[in-house]
Amino acid sequence: MTFKELGIIDPILKALEAKGYKHPSPIQEQSIPILLKGKDLLGCAQTGTGKTAAFAIPILQHLYNDNHNTKGQRRIKALIITPTRELAIQIGDNFTEYGKHTGIVNTVIFGGVKQGPQTQALRRGVDILVATPGRLLDLMDQGYISLKDVQYSVLDEADHMLDMGFIHDIRRILAKLPTKRQSLFFSATMPTSIVKLSQKMLGNPEKVTIAPKQTTAERVEQALYYVSKKNKPKLLVHLLTRNTLQSTLIFSRTKYGADKITKFLKKVDIHSEAIHGNKSQNQRQKALLNFKEGKTKVLVATDIAARGIDVSDLALVVNFDLPNIAETYVHRIGRTGRAAASGIAISFCDIEERAYLKDIQKLIGQQIRVIADHPFINSGDNEPEEKAKKPQRSQRPRRNNERTDSRKKANPETRQKSDRRRKPFSRNRD
Ligand code: AMP
Repeated sequence: MTFKELGIIDPILKALEAKGYKHPSPIQEQSIPILLKGKDLLGCAQTGTGKTAAFAIPILQHLYNDNHNTKGQRRIKALIITPTRELAIQIGDNFTEYGKHTGIVNTVIFGGVKQGPQTQALRRGVDILVATPGRLLDLMDQGYISLKDVQYSVLDEADHMLDMGFIHDIRRILAKLPTKRQSLFFSATMPTSIVKLSQKMLGNPEKVTIAPKQTTAERVEQALYYVSKKNKPKLLVHLLTRNTLQSTLIFSRTKYGADKITKFLKKVDIHSEAIHGNKSQNQRQKALLNFKEGKTKVLVATDIAARGIDVSDLALVVNFDLPNIAETYVHRIGRTGRAAASGIAISFCDIEERAYLKDIQKLIGQQIRVIADHPFINSGDNEPEEKAKKPQRSQRPRRNNERTDSRKKANPETRQKSDRRRKPFSRNRD
């Protein structure tokens, strides 16, 4: 199957050729014909499957065909709502690349930066707006944005949007959209809350499901090192220095931890940069660009800051800390091995993280290969989970919403379950 066979117009084909896209990915092959027919779409797919092009190409094609020769001020005809700034920027970049021969203009708006340049771009007129919910509502309230001409709307990463507490914002935004429009809705998972939201937004949608979570886990080569918390920095340095340094993304559970990693790497002359919620948007963008361009080989990130990072040659992901939410592991390792490429993901697991490891292996349905011989092993590190010393309550890392009241204490089973149900992110966390 080729993009030409999908009926893509020449100006877009030319741009896809320049990007080196030879064949549509499965989600593109399935979604593009549906979307070119003007139907609503419910897509169950995660980042890394090529879903951005799956919705961007048909939207560009519709706008090109609809408005080819119209004159006058541009109005927002397509709206893409996405949970994070990084993802918004990436989607905007993709629209610019795929649409570079179409004359269609997009802009991206997100919070955390001055609104001036964004409102100026809006005043000049745009056809496509990519936005995070908060800034979008803010600029709508200030009268800079009208959604009354929107004909195509996309809600991207809906499950993360809800996890981040954007549900009310989304409802307010949806209420301002014209009822007659083509709606697209993407989510990596489909819990009841998401299905309900999708029903509000979509008419009678076609459904496309791609790449269940396991696929990422199967595609990426994974390895596990049992190591004490104290020895993690040494092991990291050992692994980074034994071969030529390749493009590496290191995950830390906390912002403080991320800074600490960059500091000890500096001591051994490994240059790295950190991105997390305490860095300004400009710092984050600069660090990301340096990493994408290969100027910085090592990027240290917390989960939210890293969401949506798309670096084509990412060789290695290191989970310096295991995430306490199993799904996050899949998102993290999916940063490498994107689209068809394969990558390597290494995880460190100290004794306090064994419970997280258990959850992760259950979710991905496989045992991660353990590298048993490394120089920083302590006796007992490699013991199987059951034998490993259970962390004392006081030693175990407190999960964010963990309650310590007597009712919870009395019933550890309830505590475990509620931990798992915890929403992975709150809006202010990062
Ligand atoms: P996404 O899921 O949209 O974040 O895309 C994941 C990665 O796949 C990005 O680096 C895209 O540039 C790349 N990609 C998307 N579609 C194709 C394609 N048809 N052929 C090759 N690479 C693609």
